[in-house]
Amino acid sequence: MLNVLKNRFEQGYRTTPYPKVNIELHERYRGRPQINADAPSDLIAQCVAACPQNAIDGERKRIDLGRCIFCGACETLSQKQFISFTQDFGISVAEKKDLLTDGSLPDLAHHAKTHFKKLFGRSLQLRQVSAAGCNSCEADLNVLATPFFDLARFGINFVASPRHADGIVVTGPVSRNMKTALFETLEAVPEPRVVIAVGSCAISGGPFTGSPEITEGLDQLVPVDLFIPGCPPHPLTNLHALLSYFK
Ligand code: SF4
Ligand code: SF4
Repeated sequence: MLNVLKNRFEQGYRTTPYPKVNIELHERYRGRPQINADAPSDLIAQCVAACPQNAIDGERKRIDLGRCIFCGACETLSQKQFISFTQDFGISVAEKKDLLTDGSLPDLAHHAKTHFKKLFGRSLQLRQVSAAGCNSCEADLNVLATPFFDLARFGINFVASPRHADGIVVTGPVSRNMKTALFETLEAVPEPRVVIAVGSCAISGGPFTGSPEITEGLDQLVPVDLFIPGCPPHPLTNLHALLSYFK
């Protein structure tokens, strides 16, 4: 016992003060994009051609954050004259159409399903379904349970059984082989329930877009309440989304 107290005294309190205090991320972190609509058209065309995800709408000068994998190729190619990425990790949305952005995003706290705040604001239990993800989205969700993020202090937990859950968090491009497991898990969650798509794979198929083995968007199978973009989304993007949507 004395050793436990000694360790605690030596190590101090390690949990992040977020959301009371904002966190500065590494300078290489890529969050919400800024788009310069006045960039030269040939530069825009080069960025459109270079994007591996076909995520840039050159005519409307927008990025589809649901498709973007935040590789940074457009930022490097345009030397930040057309697209640059900010440190803003609050990039999640309740309506998929809002992911096609000119750099601005609606305030997630004011979504249309605010009854979820009343139902789950004090206690939210989630079942994670990895539907053929590469394990990075899953790892960055797992890390929310570590002492640094300490998701449980907000009353949010990941649970083993869907029967104990208020909703599911889906990662991966929902391969053909995972559809049955996904539907069975969802059906085991009592209503009312929430469905959250995490990562570009779950939102649009991500890097696997075009494969006949996957689904190009979880919303094609079931209604989705919350979209968290990224490849993978930073843990703070996940945390910001959960707190904004449910608290
Ligand atoms: S950062 Fe996104 S929009 Fe830019 S090239 Fe990569 S995938 Fe395309
Ligand atoms: S979105 Fe990216 S990190 Fe997440 S499962 Fe797909 S490929 Fe992996």
